[in-house]
Amino acid sequence: MVLSVYNFDLDSVLKEIENIGAKRVLLQFPEGLKQYAIPIVESLRRSSDAIFFISMDPCYGGCDVALDDGLRLKADLIVHFGHTEFLTDSKPPIPIIYIPVLSNLPLNGLISKLLEKIRGYSKIGLLASVQHVHMLETLQHILEEHGFEVHIGSLCGRVKFRGQILGCDVCSALQVASKVDVFIVLSGGDFHALGVALSTGKPVLVLDPFRNEVRDISKLVKRTLSLRWHYISIAREASVFGILIGIKPGQFKLEAALKAADLIISHGKKYYLFTVRDFSENMLIPFKNVDVFVSAACPRIAIDNAPFHGKPVITLTELFIALSGNLDPTSLRRILYDPY
Ligand code: SF4
Repeated sequence: MVLSVYNFDLDSVLKEIENIGAKRVLLQFPEGLKQYAIPIVESLRRSSDAIFFISMDPCYGGCDVALDDGLRLKADLIVHFGHTEFLTDSKPPIPIIYIPVLSNLPLNGLISKLLEKIRGYSKIGLLASVQHVHMLETLQHILEEHGFEVHIGSLCGRVKFRGQILGCDVCSALQVASKVDVFIVLSGGDFHALGVALSTGKPVLVLDPFRNEVRDISKLVKRTLSLRWHYISIAREASVFGILIGIKPGQFKLEAALKAADLIISHGKKYYLFTVRDFSENMLIPFKNVDVFVSAACPRIAIDNAPFHGKPVITLTELFIALSGNLDPTSLRRILYDPY
């Protein structure tokens, strides 16, 4: 089913409903796709007698599968739109089907702008968020025809398509980083591209079909890095840490949180453990005695919108850097990953 600029593979949803004989189905959508939930339910109802529930809660990634809600609803199936499989649990308590939603926005108008921006480079790394990953090969051919050497990483980590990146997993970029001069990230917004730039140290351009523009994010990267090192220096002097444990299924890293707690104690400092489902800035306000928070949940909690958190929030890697005293700038390239 095509809705606006997106293709929704409802045939796969209906096939799965039929395969498992699902009577109750919980549908999850990321924020940008929630507006299509009603026409999708209307369409599914035309071919299935199942009861469909739409989750209204925020959903930012494949880490965020509404298993608790599904169990409460006695759902037989969770349909998770817009992301790829993330959970490592091979037998979740409810069957989950992930339906990546692909954008059909054309690239035609962007190619000349892109060629202008990459003049001077010769080796290009191509990456995309899941909505655009099907266009990477076309882009590769176009760039090769213009004489560029193009690299796309193969499958790795949590990604399901060649060249795909997540906000917390840029292994596709790390695989080819040493071979390229610049990365082009095909996505809306700067979120994915920022993760690539922080993790590789390479220049990154965003090819944004929604805004029909090619953006250089070097200013954002510089601002982000300077704030990260500022927070690391605050963490070095801090006495009291708050460790955030994510309760969402794919963000639950209790072992890593407890290791962080051990590290904090071993440096003669104090810690408190906090659980969090959907993080928001004002959540930190009541905990005045905590100097620095450490996200053992999604690493992007620490990085994105950081100036608005009111207090420093750092990643597990940044805690490790702060307390180990290894201030080598390249140590921050592991910012998205656990240091243990
Ligand atoms: S952990 Fe964060 S970055 Fe990773 S998929 Fe979930 S919301 Fe996205």
